[in-house]
Amino acid sequence: MNKRYDLAIIGGGASGLVAAIAAARRRRSVVLCEKMSAPGLKLLASGGQRCNLTNTLSTEAFMERFGPEGRFMGPALAELGSEKLRSFFHELGIETDIRDGFRVWPATRRSETVLAGLLAEVKRLGVRVEVRCEVRSALFTDGCFQLTCEAGAIAATELILATGGLTHPRLGTTGDGYRFARAFGHRVKPCYPGGVPLLTRERWPGRCTAHTIGKAVVRFAAGRPKKLARTGDVIFTERGIAGPVILDLSREISPLLKKRGTVLLQLNLGRGRNREDWQAIFKGWRQGSGGILAERLAEHFPPPLAEVLCELAGLEARTAVHALGGEPRDRLIGILVETPLTVVDTAGYDQAFITRGGVSLKEVDPSTLESRLRPGLYLCGELLDLDGPCGGFNLQWAFASGYLAGLGK
Ligand SMILES: Cc1cc2nc3c(=O)[nH]c(=O)nc-3n(C[C@H](O)[C@H](O)[C@H](O)COP(=O)(O)OP(=O)(O)OC[C@H]3O[C@@H](n4cnc5c(N)ncnc54)[C@H](O)[C@@H]3O)c2cc1C
Repeated sequence: MNKRYDLAIIGGGASGLVAAIAAARRRRSVVLCEKMSAPGLKLLASGGQRCNLTNTLSTEAFMERFGPEGRFMGPALAELGSEKLRSFFHELGIETDIRDGFRVWPATRRSETVLAGLLAEVKRLGVRVEVRCEVRSALFTDGCFQLTCEAGAIAATELILATGGLTHPRLGTTGDGYRFARAFGHRVKPCYPGGVPLLTRERWPGRCTAHTIGKAVVRFAAGRPKKLARTGDVIFTERGIAGPVILDLSREISPLLKKRGTVLLQLNLGRGRNREDWQAIFKGWRQGSGGILAERLAEHFPPPLAEVLCELAGLEARTAVHALGGEPRDRLIGILVETPLTVVDTAGYDQAFITRGGVSLKEVDPSTLESRLRPGLYLCGELLDLDGPCGGFNLQWAFASGYLAGLGK
């Protein structure tokens, strides 16, 4: 490994592989170092091994979903936004399709197809891929970047950090890139697991695990006066709560947990029905055939949840609905409209799909992804302080940022 390359890339994930292709197409000599036995293990695991590659949102709407920092992605998305990404894959023989009008998948529904296509192009272009090549340190000395790996040293004129974040560390992502970036003077914002199930103080979710609750409304105080509310499917787990809407909100809740210790959620598990809606439903029950509370509630909720809701309101599940009125009924309606759950932790990086936080964007030039502190150093993918919700947002960012970084100046 004594040769000096034009470019070294640390990390053979989604962003590193695309960076290698973009750079090698410009006839630069490229070496890609991957610490695992093969590149792209996280790409393989993505989207339940089906790989939700991107989505059909406009660039503006796409960036908005990443929050205030989202505009940083503009130049990368101009180079390889959703449409261009699909063409890029098409040229590699990877066909894509959209069945729900939003999510873009490989037509085969297999992430293997995507990885195989990327690796074939990397090979065709003559990129040197070093696997089981964990980079221990990356420094700039004697006019070039010097990488220290178990197998020896690598020298390169330019360097791309594409080491990902901290999620699923068994797939190789253990935050090494933060250390490398710090060594070049970059600031790293605190990191949190995002897209992750939440653990609750209450034990009752463990009694309701078999059911998905559709169109649940989840609210919590994100800060004064900001109150966030989102609607979507919720799933109860043995130790808490998950499902698409929770995974998305976890990106906000995770940092709050660190600050506050606990976060109180208010769930409307009855498809957004308000107090007046429930008062009308109760009136109908009383005027109709009556019955017992748990059975009538089970018309709207899975039976175990119906029982839990009665308990939370301090009511016997077998209470006759004819006998229910006044304060006890209002108490139950209060619980149906806003069921409280106290989040005490997340399920951690092992179960998260994205890292919130990372290398600060301030010292990276969005038009090239070059470091403002060390010329010739580029950063891309999840390593940077950008994270999006589920739905192809994060892979799109990884591909687009890898591409831009690979183009160089
Ligand atoms: C289970 C799961 C499912 C997901 N599904 C989707 C999805 O369907 N759609 C979507 O948009 N996003 C999805 N994501 C998120 C998405 O996969 C990531 O955001 C994206 O892969 C990040 O790409 P990256 O190139 O930045 O990092 P990674 O793909 O994580 O690649 C980083 C690479 O760097 C290597 N590396 C790290 N340190 C070193 C070192 N010191 N030396 C050498 N190599 C090193 C790692 O081994 C790894 O291969 C999912 C994530 C997970 C965990």
